[in-house]
Amino acid sequence: MSESFVVALALEGQLRLDDQPALHQAVAVARQQGASQGQDLSLVPGKLIVLACRPQGQHLRGPHQRRLAAQALASLQTRLAAESIPLLHFPQHNTAAALQLLAPLVQPQVVLHCRESRLFDDWPLARESFPRVFAEFRRGLGQAPKPPLPLPDLGGLGGLRLEGAWGWREPTGIDAAAEAAGDSAGERGATDPRSAFPFAGDEASGLARLSHYCLESDGLHQYKEHRNGLVGTEFSSKFSPYLALGSLSVRRIWQTVLDYQALHGADEGSEWMKQELLWREFFLWTAQRHGASFGAPGGLQNRRSDAIEDRELFERWCRGRCGHPLIDAQLNELRTTGYLSNRGRQWVASHFINELRLPWTWGARFFEWWLIDAQPALNTGNWAYLAGVGNDPRSFNGPPRRFDLERQVRLYDPDQMHRRRWS
Ligand SMILES: Cc1cc2nc3c(=O)[nH]c(=O)nc-3n(C[C@H](O)[C@H](O)[C@H](O)COP(=O)(O)OP(=O)(O)OC[C@H]3O[C@@H](n4cnc5c(N)ncnc54)[C@H](O)[C@@H]3O)c2cc1C
Repeated sequence: MSESFVVALALEGQLRLDDQPALHQAVAVARQQGASQGQDLSLVPGKLIVLACRPQGQHLRGPHQRRLAAQALASLQTRLAAESIPLLHFPQHNTAAALQLLAPLVQPQVVLHCRESRLFDDWPLARESFPRVFAEFRRGLGQAPKPPLPLPDLGGLGGLRLEGAWGWREPTGIDAAAEAAGDSAGERGATDPRSAFPFAGDEASGLARLSHYCLESDGLHQYKEHRNGLVGTEFSSKFSPYLALGSLSVRRIWQTVLDYQALHGADEGSEWMKQELLWREFFLWTAQRHGASFGAPGGLQNRRSDAIEDRELFERWCRGRCGHPLIDAQLNELRTTGYLSNRGRQWVASHFINELRLPWTWGARFFEWWLIDAQPALNTGNWAYLAGVGNDPRSFNGPPRRFDLERQVRLYDPDQMHRRRWS
């Protein structure tokens, strides 16, 4: 058993080092420990270990998101190894259970937990009267997000010797064949040249994408105009997979948009991006406010459902064979690559709810498995919104909004480029 003072940082699904308040705290506690022992700080601070466990209540990741998560973890492990800081991976256990497993090797004196990356640390508006409508949320915000934190100096915090635990990975208990089949779907998605998300999931790739989209290309400037596109890497930012994995901080994105605005002025593209990041925030806090009712069939509005539980139709739909060529093409793209444009997601969900009349929670569950950026609060929030049981004010006194698919195609895929690509 180690004699050192050990600080454990539990990532809790936040797979980055940038803008991690808990990492700063961990570093401060470890260095302080050196000081309180009256020793030379630079020589004998406490030791840091990093735990990558399954966050409490985390959904089971589908093949595409699992592939990105593996990339993000491998890269973190390499970066921490350069400082001799061990990263221990427990895909099946939460932090408390992992600490018990580790107890014979090491018992950290302090455990600090990372939090999901949000623009605001605490309720941005009063919890009790949290608005149901996005416009009210946006208008009511009285505070600006805090700037992101830089990477702390990790020098001297590594070197804890954990016999046999270096880069240790818990043996997985879930069905290995199912996992292998899922992983091969993930691999195929990575190499499909049609993918709108051909990027890796690690922190460096997220920061590179951020810089490319906001500062080096015209992406942010043209965001409002292009965001309803369907094909290619540049019609939208593609930040969502990084946000879902916590390999990019939303405050870092916000700050980069502000940096862009300082250089070029606050144009429509950059203002619209801020609005979309606020949508993300709105759904995260709304999910926290309402708990289980947020994802229940009747949603926040506690509405009676008239959906039809047709399992055969649902299974055909899952295989991308519902018979509507536009929808089948979208589903084909989703299953092959894990990414789907926002417009595509809206069409698929609207068709599922209004034309097929299937229960929206089934569609949401399917998305959660296949999406490379699956994030339950955002997925549920958007599905419930379109099903007319969530935050859409139009649905409070009427039916859900319905997309006229023929009209939508004329507007957004007039040359049928998407359909031809994914049929
Ligand atoms: C049925 C349905 C399910 C969805 N499920 C998810 C999901 O599981 N995970 C997820 O991240 N997004 C989800 N979205 C929201 C949105 O489609 C994606 O965030 C977006 O398409 C991701 O691509 P991007 O990063 O290029 O987006 P951009 O258009 O570049 O937007 C930038 C960021 O703003 C946020 N954002 C944009 N649109 C929305 C929105 N409608 N709701 C909340 N935040 C938004 C995201 O964080 C996104 O990364 C869903 C939308 C629908 C209609």
